[in-house]
Amino acid sequence: MLKKLFKSFRSPLRRAQTKSTPQVLSSSQHPIKRSEISRYAISVVERLQQAGYQAYLVGGCVRDLLLDIDPKDFDVATSATPEQVRAEFRNARIIGRRFKLVHVHFGREIIETATFRANHPQDDEEEDSHLSSRNESGRILRDNVYGTLEDDAQRRDFTINALYYDPVTERILDYANGAHDIHNHLVRLIGDPTQRYQEDPVRMLRAVRFAAKLDFDIEKHSAAPIYKLAPLLAGVPAARLFDEVLKLFLSGYAIYTYELLVDYGLYGQLFPASAAALKQNPDYTDTLIRNALGNTDLRIQQGKTVTPAFLFAALLWPALPARVIRLQERGMPPIPAMQEAAHELISEQVQRIAVPKRFTLPIREIWDMQERLPRRSGKRADLLLENPRFRAGYDFLLLRESAGEQTGGLGDWWTDYQDANDSERRGMIRDLSSKDEGPNAPRKRRRSGSKRKRSGADGAAQPAAD
Ligand code: ATP
Ligand code: MG
Repeated sequence: MLKKLFKSFRSPLRRAQTKSTPQVLSSSQHPIKRSEISRYAISVVERLQQAGYQAYLVGGCVRDLLLDIDPKDFDVATSATPEQVRAEFRNARIIGRRFKLVHVHFGREIIETATFRANHPQDDEEEDSHLSSRNESGRILRDNVYGTLEDDAQRRDFTINALYYDPVTERILDYANGAHDIHNHLVRLIGDPTQRYQEDPVRMLRAVRFAAKLDFDIEKHSAAPIYKLAPLLAGVPAARLFDEVLKLFLSGYAIYTYELLVDYGLYGQLFPASAAALKQNPDYTDTLIRNALGNTDLRIQQGKTVTPAFLFAALLWPALPARVIRLQERGMPPIPAMQEAAHELISEQVQRIAVPKRFTLPIREIWDMQERLPRRSGKRADLLLENPRFRAGYDFLLLRESAGEQTGGLGDWWTDYQDANDSERRGMIRDLSSKDEGPNAPRKRRRSGSKRKRSGADGAAQPAAD
């Protein structure tokens, strides 16, 4: 009955529909080899099938294998309920916030096993109105109704994510023409795009994420509503957006992802202050963000770690000067104004995206370091070098310079200082004492007029305003 309801809403021309009988690709019709698949994932599927349940590999792993990409992980979909799955394995645990899933553990590897689910019934089918499954904008709030394999295909987001692979028969079941879209490099929503974005606005971010990661286009009917619906992201819990934003920017394709987010009007929903800075001071802001994301992509390619704090520090930094100036105009001295602006900016941002304290604290430290790096006299430089945040602060300084900020060669100075031996270092500090040292130089050397002009060139910690 539910299926009928959905079909009656659909115009067959524009919407990718799931079929009741899938297209079946036999092993000779697709390139996936059993040997490319985690043996644990295969054993979970085999075990469930032997116990009489349906079970398949599904989602990202099938999509990625078809594209010759190494899957991040292997997910299983099954007709068995979580309790039934758990009963089959000694090493299985039921987890779940939004919905129940089973994690089957094999040493470090986890095979996530989910029961087939259906799209949620419409509100008017709900018995208890305050348990309503959708809010006014159509967003699904609960999503935990089990269903058939076909239902499961239909509730998935994109056609390319709705392919089911059976490692026993080595066949792929394709309910939504996903193989065709993989072939044509298209990210296409299943069902009516507007409705699917309204149900879950995060799908707009996922469309961008997959387009960037796979270098696919977003199919035009799936792309068209995004710009208009982007404001729906405001209704998504900030904690979920944090998870999604990390996936967006730590995928190894952050620059392209950023471009798409900006083009589709999504960036401003995630980072309103940063988007405002992009308008006010476009060249500097865009260069700084691109360079930060480029570094991130490179580090990920090289298998190095990346810290989200550095990334957030960069995305927000260009939004600081306007705020600092506003506070200074109200009579606040520069350093407290900078502190207050930083505090304001982060407080506003965490309401949108719940960046945890373990990241917001380092953001502040990286920014604070920008004020300290110009002050090098006496023992200060050596103390800074010992600071655990020095490296991030120094990298951040170089990032600012790469975006065109004038610091009077502060980055080079620090580069040289790190390479220098003790006596060279003493010489470098001596050389400094004859020059002005920036905003916190000893008072007696402060001269009005000429000082103000030069403070930028000395590496004052405020980002370039227009
Ligand atoms: P990745 O390689 O990034 O893990 P993935 O496709 O596996 O990509 P996941 O977030 O792990 O993405 O989700 C697994 C599967 O669950 C997806 O392939 C998709 O079928 C389904 N899915 C995930 N999120 C949604 C959503 N918001 N709406 C509908 N289906 C979703
Ligand atoms: Mg996945």
